[in-house]
Amino acid sequence: MKIPDAMNAMILEAPKKPLVHKEVPTPSPNEEQVLIKVIACGVCRTDLHIADGELAKPKLPLILGHEIAGMVVKKGSSVTQLETGDIVGVPWLGYTCGKCRYCLRNKENLCENAGFTGYTIDGGYAEFTVAYQQYCFKLDAMYANASGAPLLCAGLIGFRSYNMIDKEAEKIGIYGFGAAAHILIQVAIYEAKKIYAFTREGDYAAQKFALQLGAVWAGDSTQSPPDKLDAAIIFAPVGALVPKALHDVDKGGAVVCGGIHMSDIPSFSYDILWEERMLRSVANLTRKDGESFLHLAPLVPVKTETQLFTLLQANEALESLRSGKVHGAAVLVME
Ligand SMILES: [Zn+2]
Ligand SMILES: [Zn+2]
Repeated sequence: MKIPDAMNAMILEAPKKPLVHKEVPTPSPNEEQVLIKVIACGVCRTDLHIADGELAKPKLPLILGHEIAGMVVKKGSSVTQLETGDIVGVPWLGYTCGKCRYCLRNKENLCENAGFTGYTIDGGYAEFTVAYQQYCFKLDAMYANASGAPLLCAGLIGFRSYNMIDKEAEKIGIYGFGAAAHILIQVAIYEAKKIYAFTREGDYAAQKFALQLGAVWAGDSTQSPPDKLDAAIIFAPVGALVPKALHDVDKGGAVVCGGIHMSDIPSFSYDILWEERMLRSVANLTRKDGESFLHLAPLVPVKTETQLFTLLQANEALESLRSGKVHGAAVLVME
């Protein structure tokens, strides 16, 4: 295809300011990168945290977006793993050094020199983007559209969080029923788990959605579930949910925090952690997480519920996410 010299992009010039629509030069891949024509890019809560200045030191000006589904249209000279025409997904983890003590211990998600798509590297709120070949995942053809985008973060982080709990866990609570939860519930039910969905108070639409997707129970997060839970995963960025979830899980159960940012956690009495309950967070992803999840997704098959916006509606999409109005996952679709 003929690659234009300039492309439309939505740019974050400074935190706490709306994104600005600009025409900017189309990026050129270096020898290890590919140029990708963005088909769709998901809008993640992390984008809000970056835009609001809650995550330190973003690249500025910045193109947000780390849930990219697109097509390879040009290869750098050393690219051997991908071909033009390949449908790929680009996740949050955009680069690791392979040399630091974390990379050497198979914890590349904690790499000291990592690059993050849509945070320290330009992302997908644009018509084109570049990405390192080793950090692109091949996507099944069924995901070569808006439905594939949310798999790249909401799906992946949910999957990594889910893998942090005991394989034997059967009754799993999910706190915050948005993009990540609506994907994870499909994988968990495929593996014969029972899901208990907690939403904000009065969010009957999300509760209904959870039940439609097969949750055995849905209620708001002030309610107690009908059964003790074996494990809990918190996606809502609300610190007060930590003691609540610890309270809801049984002896030996884990509470996993899947978000990158959370409000302060209120102090709590030791007895809700006692009896070998565990509390942990999940940070970023490894390429192995991506490969396992994107192999599993078409087998389930995971279907995502998306609310579509155009590229130029990116600010509107962020606002809808902020106010909790998005049903499923918000996705920008390029024309
Ligand atoms: Zn490293
Ligand atoms: Zn994300």
